[in-house]
Amino acid sequence: PRLKEVEFVKSSGKAKDCPRDDRPEFAILGRSNVGKSSLINVLARKKEVALTSKKPGKTQLINHFLVNKSWYLVDLPGYGFAKAPDSARMDWSSFTKGYFLNRETLVAVLLLIDASVPPQKIDLDCANWLGRNNIPMTLVFTKCDKMKGKRTRPDENIKNFQELMRQNYREHPAWIMTSSVTGLGRDELLLHMSQLRNY
Ligand code: GDP
Repeated sequence: PRLKEVEFVKSSGKAKDCPRDDRPEFAILGRSNVGKSSLINVLARKKEVALTSKKPGKTQLINHFLVNKSWYLVDLPGYGFAKAPDSARMDWSSFTKGYFLNRETLVAVLLLIDASVPPQKIDLDCANWLGRNNIPMTLVFTKCDKMKGKRTRPDENIKNFQELMRQNYREHPAWIMTSSVTGLGRDELLLHMSQLRNY
């Protein structure tokens, strides 16, 4: 399977400006540099699916892509920009929270987490917020191939992240290990999304 056709539909400034048909959608979210663009390219088997969120001025918008004319992949603003002033981080939260809390067609959030580094507070905060608000999520661990020169290994980082989450939840969200370098997890993620769409 692949994302055969990925067609940009629109950028929205608010949840209520998003497309109004009832196609199911997945929102893709994570820290900047987590590997979001690389992963989408791997899913699409393309060199470059132009992510609108990478274009200047579009970074703070909700970007809808129609996949295979049947469901949406939604590119949300990244969080935790190292250089963004605190006020920009605040904007992200109120704006994105509005989307999560009001979007009825949202099937699940794909929360991207960099497995090549130990658990980061900002990712845990995000996962905890989604969990507290009963927003369905799948943890998509990225860069699982990355071992060289690292003090910690991806599998240890993933285990530690899950341990930290378990302190808050009895039921752990679905999770998938991926690598855009080796293609690990690609088919699993596509299958996972198609299963969730049909339930
Ligand atoms: P984005 O800002 O989340 O869209 O992240 P990018 O897709 O642009 O990736 C950020 C950096 O991480 C780039 O230097 C990528 O080459 C690297 N990267 C992304 N995915 C992987 C991966 O699966 N493995 C490794 N080793 N590097 C990755």
